Formats: sequence, structure tokens, C-alpha cells
Amino acid sequence: MSFDTVSMEVYPLSETRGDSKSVGCPHLYVTLPSSTETTDFGGTYMAPGVAQVAAKLKGEFADVSNRRPGPPRLEYAGHPTFDWNRALGITCSDNRFRDINAYYHVTRARVLAERSAPPHRRALLARLLRDVKVVVDRDEIEPALRGTWRDRSQNAWWDRELEQIQFGSKVRYALDSLVIFHEYAHGIIDKITDESHFPLVYEPGHQMENYLPTAVCEAFADYLACTLADWPIVLEGTRAARNLSTPTIFNSIPVGDPHAYSLSLSSGLWELRQSNLVGREVADLWVWETLFELRKSPHRLRSFGLHEAVNELIQRDRQLTARKHASHIVNVFRARALLS
Ligand SMILES: [Zn+2]
Repeated sequence: MSFDTVSMEVYPLSETRGDSKSVGCPHLYVTLPSSTETTDFGGTYMAPGVAQVAAKLKGEFADVSNRRPGPPRLEYAGHPTFDWNRALGITCSDNRFRDINAYYHVTRARVLAERSAPPHRRALLARLLRDVKVVVDRDEIEPALRGTWRDRSQNAWWDRELEQIQFGSKVRYALDSLVIFHEYAHGIIDKITDESHFPLVYEPGHQMENYLPTAVCEAFADYLACTLADWPIVLEGTRAARNLSTPTIFNSIPVGDPHAYSLSLSSGLWELRQSNLVGREVADLWVWETLFELRKSPHRLRSFGLHEAVNELIQRDRQLTARKHASHIVNVFRARALLS
């Protein structure tokens, strides 16, 4: 006998919004005597025989590593369902539960991103987003960085050099699908803008214009994350929560925080997406196509601020939707002080 379903327990949205539930373990490598199969999104695979599941959470689209070792391999036969949490004795309060959540939502983000992208971009996107490495429970890199934004133990982020998503050991962000989607979206944006990424500037004390390309990058990351989740709030329940469904005016924002500046763009995009006049299909198309447009001219990213982003949306409307929405775009971003 063999098992034919691999399941895992996750928080569908976040630990503060709803109970955990059992789901199929998607796109996971399963080793059979003669080959390696992957599960589908329901956690099922179509192969007879005794199967082994590597205790590592490694699959087609995500590869999660953790400093705490688990059993190296599990051979499982004689039961139609393999329950990941039960097999490893992992409950919701176990730190290893974060690994499972991260695996599930990174894989989900990958599948949803490919579906959300315009059809003619999907093959390229799939090539760019092969398996993304995920590291859970990072400690800070140096004591000197404790308390700063560079302290990895207190944060979650996309590591540009290593091309990994990292989750700090002192926060529970790996239990929040929106945080995972946001970091994954940074990975998408970096991979699409390939040669010259958006500059990322977070330390205080810079001139306003130095923060603006970072603000655009954060706005696109939030917009993509919320699009994939179909939910407008990133980092819910924490001090830094960003709600895209609340209109944010550019000149009302505290100086020097690119995340705060980003809301004037992302909340405008979200309003266009939610409106009957524009809608999700068109707004998502503009954002994806703007990213692919920037791939063609990476030199523009150094000085690509919020105004430039709004102008690009107007260009996308001209090119892709016959100028049907120019007045809606202007109205939404005038109200946010991003257009005069
Ligand atoms: Zn970010």
C-alpha cells in the first residue's frame, strides 16, 4: 500500500484571523522507488508504490530550511494520508509550525502569481520564479544591528543577494500569509527588474527623493501581495500594519518612511482595482505590465518615484486600455496629492 495524499496544517490567512486547518501539501517532492513525483495543490499524486517524503519541506516552488533538524527521511506506507504535522509531532505552538506555513504560502504565492500575470508573461515569470529558498528563524547578523531595521531577527525580508525569503526568530511573520506574499512579491519585482533593481533606502536622514524609488517598490510589493490574497491589509495586528483600502495622501505622511509613502500609490491602485469603472483585471494588468516595461529600461529605476509610477499607469491605460481610464487615474492620484 502507499499513501496518496500529503497534508499539512496551516493558518489560511494569519494566526490572528481564523483557526488553523488541514490542507493538501502542494508541489512537494515525493520519492518513489523509481522516481520523484510532486504533489498537486490538493496534496495528491498519481503513483503506486511505497513512497518516501523528505522531512525537508522541499518542492517545486519553495525550499524551506531551518536550523533545527528533523528526521532526515520518513518512509510511509500503509495509510492513504500522510499528515505532515502528525508525522513530525508538530503542533501550532511548535516553532516548526512556522516552516510549514512558510512552505505552504510561498508555494501558494507562486501558483497565484502565475495565474495573476498576463497570459503572455506567464512562461517568463515561471522561469524567473523557480524554487525560492526560505529561511525561517534567522537570528540577527551582528549585535551592533540590534534594534535597527537591519536586525533580521525582528523582521521578515527578501534577501536580494542570496535570493531568499528570511524570517526572523523573534517575530511570528511566517504565520501571516500577507507578510509571506509581500516578501515573495519583492522577489518577483527583483527578478523581473533583473539587472538594476529598485534602490532600497530605509535608514532615516536622507533627502525625500532618495526614498521614493523604495516607496514605489514597497507599493508594488503590497499591491501584488494584496492582489494574490484578495485582501487589503499587510501586517495586520502590528504597529506597522498597512491598509490599502484607506486612502492615504502623500503630503500627510511622516518624513523618511518609504513604507508610509508607498501607501499613497498602493492605496490608489487598490481603489482603482476595487472600483467598478476599472476593476481588478485591468488594474492588475497595468501593474504587471509596468514591471515588465521597467525590465526593458532598468536605468530608470534609480530615480523612479511615485509620480513616475502614476505616469506609467497613464501610459499603460493609453497602450492597453485605449485611454478609457485616464480620468479615473488622475482623480484617484490627485486626491492623494501625487498629481497636481
Ligand atoms: Zn517590503
